[in-house]
Amino acid sequence: MEKNQPDLNWEDLTFSYMPTDYNVRCTYRDGAWGPIEVSDSPEVNLSIAATCLHYGQESFEGLKAYRGKDGKVRIFRMEENAKRFIRSAEGTMMQPMPVELFCEMVRKVVKLNLRFVPPYGTGASLYIRPLEIGITARVGVKPATEYMVIMLVTPVGPYFKTGFKPMRVCISRDYDRVAPKGTGSIKVGGNYGASLVAGEKAHDLGYASLLYLDPKEKKYVDECGAANFFGVKDGTYVTPASPSILPSITNLSLRQLAEDMGLKVEQRHIPVEELSTFEEASACGTAAVCSPIAEIDDLDTGAKYVYTTTGEPGPVTTALYNKLRGIQWGEEPDEHGWCEILEED
Ligand SMILES: *Cc1c(COP(=O)(O)O)cnc(C)c1O
Repeated sequence: MEKNQPDLNWEDLTFSYMPTDYNVRCTYRDGAWGPIEVSDSPEVNLSIAATCLHYGQESFEGLKAYRGKDGKVRIFRMEENAKRFIRSAEGTMMQPMPVELFCEMVRKVVKLNLRFVPPYGTGASLYIRPLEIGITARVGVKPATEYMVIMLVTPVGPYFKTGFKPMRVCISRDYDRVAPKGTGSIKVGGNYGASLVAGEKAHDLGYASLLYLDPKEKKYVDECGAANFFGVKDGTYVTPASPSILPSITNLSLRQLAEDMGLKVEQRHIPVEELSTFEEASACGTAAVCSPIAEIDDLDTGAKYVYTTTGEPGPVTTALYNKLRGIQWGEEPDEHGWCEILEED
C-alpha cells in the first residue's frame, strides 16, 4: 500500500469529484502534440472564445485503476478508451490523440497520484477522466486548430452504497438522448447536456434512470441513461445493436465473459415488447460494472416489466459482475490480458 495516503474514509466514498495532487495536460499546436505537462492546478486558463465553450468541441473518457489483491495497481483496457477517444475526436472535427500518447498520459497521471489509489478491499478505485477540448479562439463556426487533452483523477467509491441492488427505470417517448444519425456513438459532453432534462424527470418520478428507445422509430431498446443495456434469457446475453448507442467497454468485456461462461451472445435490435421475455435485465458501464434492473415501467403504455421482486439480482448478472470485478481487482486470472499492471517506480 502507498505511504502517506490521505486520511479518507475510503469505504464511504461516493462517485464524486475530489481534487488530487496532480493532473496532466498535452496541447496540440502548429500541427504537433507537445510534451506531457504536469500541473498541480485544478483550473484551466482558456480563451473566452475557445471553440469548446461555444461550439461543443469537447469529448471525454472514463476508466479506472484498481489496487489489487496482490498490492499492484491495474489499469483496465485503456487502449480501448484510447481508440474510442480517437473516434470521438474525429466525430467532432478535433485532433485525434495517438493511442500510445493517450496511454502514456494515463500511466503518468496515475503514478503522480498513487497515494489516492484506494486500498484493496475498500471497494473504491481511482477514476481517470481524460477530456479533449478545442482551444482556438473563434466566433465563426469552424473547428479549432489547437486542442488540449487533460487527464484528471479522483478516488471513487463503489457505485452502490447499499451493495449490488436492482433499480427501477422508466421508458418515455418524450425524450431522445441523441439523433438517429447524430453523435450517440461517440462520447461527447453535448450528449450529456441533452440528456439532463430527461434524467431529472426520471429521478423526480422515483426512477434511477430513463431507458431510451431508438430515436428514429421508438421501437427498439437503445441505452439506459448513460449506460448500455443487456438482457438475459434462455442462456443468451442480448444487447442492442444500434448506431445511436455508445459502444461500452464494459459491455464489450461482459460479452466476452458471457461467451467464456458458455452463454450465447446476441447483439441485435431489441423490440420493446421483447422486454417481457427476459429473465434478467441490467445496465452496464465503468462506474458500476452492472446496475441490475428490478423493473422497467413504460410511462406511455402503462406496461411493467418486472425482473425481480426479492431485491436480489439474477444469477447470470451476478456471475458476470463478480467475474469482471475479480479480474479488475486481480482476484481472477486475466485471461484476455485486459489489465495493465502499473510499474510504480
Ligand atoms: C461512457 C458511456 C457508457 C459506458 O461505457 P464504458 O466504456 O463501459 O464505461 C455507456 N453509455 C454512454 C452514453 C456513455 O457515455
